[in-house]
Amino acid sequence: MTVRHHPEEDLLLAHAAGALDESMALIVATHLCFCAQCRATVALAEKVGGTLLDVIAPAPLAPDALARTLAQLDAPMPEQARPVSNDNTPLPLRRFLGRDLSQVGWRKMGPKLAYVPLTRRGGVSMRLLRGAPGTDVGRHGHKGMEYTLVLAGGFTDVTGSYGPGDFQTASPDLRHNPIADGDDSDCINLAVTTAPLRFESVVQKIVGKLFGF
Ligand SMILES: [Zn+2]
Repeated sequence: MTVRHHPEEDLLLAHAAGALDESMALIVATHLCFCAQCRATVALAEKVGGTLLDVIAPAPLAPDALARTLAQLDAPMPEQARPVSNDNTPLPLRRFLGRDLSQVGWRKMGPKLAYVPLTRRGGVSMRLLRGAPGTDVGRHGHKGMEYTLVLAGGFTDVTGSYGPGDFQTASPDLRHNPIADGDDSDCINLAVTTAPLRFESVVQKIVGKLFGF
């Protein structure tokens, strides 16, 4: 399965520099488990950063440093970075949850939607969301950024279709209405929002308040 939607490069570079907060670091690290292309970008950024430090602290760069760096990018992921779980929960997420994705306790939000609150710090919230096929999340805008990583299943909105590993960045100017794709498996997402969502119907607003969105 090919990942089609990636985090913006700035986010990958911030991740490589260790500059992201816990929730953003987790959603990016989890995307990396799905995406060789972004793993290569992050690895290169880390090497370049390390090389710059080496140059600043005047240690001579080995003549084959660049060749070795590039060779490492082609090497397979170390064993510890592979998902090890009974249901292929990506390792960073499994570490954070302390269990497999199939073992988390979902809170019902209507007949088709469920969620698991993970962290909330200031205006930044991270949660798992699960929608049955065909679930209509409801049209909403954003006061801040909304980052969504598909873990299983998929969804479609005005910006395209998203499957496992795909990463969506929704900025405050995007108003969208994600709908879980209609096959036999639920859509499960990891989502980070930097401010509460702005739902457009009264019912959604009430539900949003009730469930802390
Ligand atoms: Zn990627």
